[in-house]
Amino acid sequence: MKFATKAIHAGVHPDESTGAIMTPIYQTSTYVQDGVGNHKGYEYSRTLNPTRHALEKNIAAIENGNFGACFGSGLAAIDCVIKMLNPGDEVISTNDLYGGSYRLFKTIFEKYGIKFHFVDMQHPTNVESHVNADTKLIWVETPTNPMMNIIDIEAMASIAKKAGAMLCVDNTFATPYLQNPLDLGADIVMHSVTKYLGGHSDVVMGALVCNDEEIAKEMYRIQNSTGAVTAPMDSFLVLRGIKTLHLRVQRHCENGEKLANFLVNHPKIEKVYWPGFPTHPNHDVARKQMRGFGGMISFTLKGNRLEDALEVVKKVEIFALAESLGGVESLIGHPATMTHASIPKEVREKTGVVDSLIRLSVGIEDADDLIADLTLALA
Ligand SMILES: *Cc1c(COP(=O)(O)O)cnc(C)c1O
Repeated sequence: MKFATKAIHAGVHPDESTGAIMTPIYQTSTYVQDGVGNHKGYEYSRTLNPTRHALEKNIAAIENGNFGACFGSGLAAIDCVIKMLNPGDEVISTNDLYGGSYRLFKTIFEKYGIKFHFVDMQHPTNVESHVNADTKLIWVETPTNPMMNIIDIEAMASIAKKAGAMLCVDNTFATPYLQNPLDLGADIVMHSVTKYLGGHSDVVMGALVCNDEEIAKEMYRIQNSTGAVTAPMDSFLVLRGIKTLHLRVQRHCENGEKLANFLVNHPKIEKVYWPGFPTHPNHDVARKQMRGFGGMISFTLKGNRLEDALEVVKKVEIFALAESLGGVESLIGHPATMTHASIPKEVREKTGVVDSLIRLSVGIEDADDLIADLTLALA
């Protein structure tokens, strides 16, 4: 089946008792058994809930995977992956990483004896030089947040394979419509479902998808043992959201391209970060592994003044000043003081998160209105 058909039909079927075409919200904690151990596949909703189960199958299908698991947030999904490791294990991660992932790695898991290396993964040799016998996981985010760097997933997969380590790709920015890491050799794909998969800024959720049965066993064991599961109502909302994922992402891409071209020609703008430009340093890798360039754009202002950036993000009217991304409405953010405030200034500036950096999550409104909004804010 092709993507659009899977997005709408995978994992779901009409309700057997009523014929309801939409998966019911099974708002229940437990399930009545006919006799001890004689149940219909569901015993307790931390372990499995029918609404969540339908969503897990749906997300697995659109990522071309066999096993899906949904969590209470993207970070809870990442937490599950790191809990597959043991003290003494080492992780090689990109240095230009979602701030919350960095915080989870540094302030939670380091004290349990897991070691993290943060490297510039645009050059695979940087990763190779950190591989040793303890390397058990390579953590990739591509495109990266907020610098829109592209990391070669196939190159990372071959390094991971040689090292005997797992490769996990945070595919939140690209979405399964534009990029499928499992097809490129990744062992696990992770999503902050909160963003494009949900798509309507009304749910916080995470997901993991994998193909390997052993990894899946660990994933479900940890999901059930730690209990960071997502709720039936939220699962329903995301099932609904995913039905239009392909249409939304098509428009995010179209609008993203129009805005990137507008920004790159604007006299007050220093630099625009968007992987669709042929001048983007990893444009070729993006072309190879992505089917479109998305609606995430970052840019800096000439002079690199903090107060100018704060003025722009305050003056916009259609763009909403908010954290998060991937919803139908356009958002504007200031990484240095918002999403990346937990990363020390010296560390963030090294990766390009300077004071005037502004990040856009281009929504699916009319592009002309979005351009007019930015024109006024930049004036
Ligand atoms: C938002 C985000 C996360 C964390 O997800 P939550 O749902 O907020 O916990 C992880 N990675 C990326 C790339 C994100 O944008």
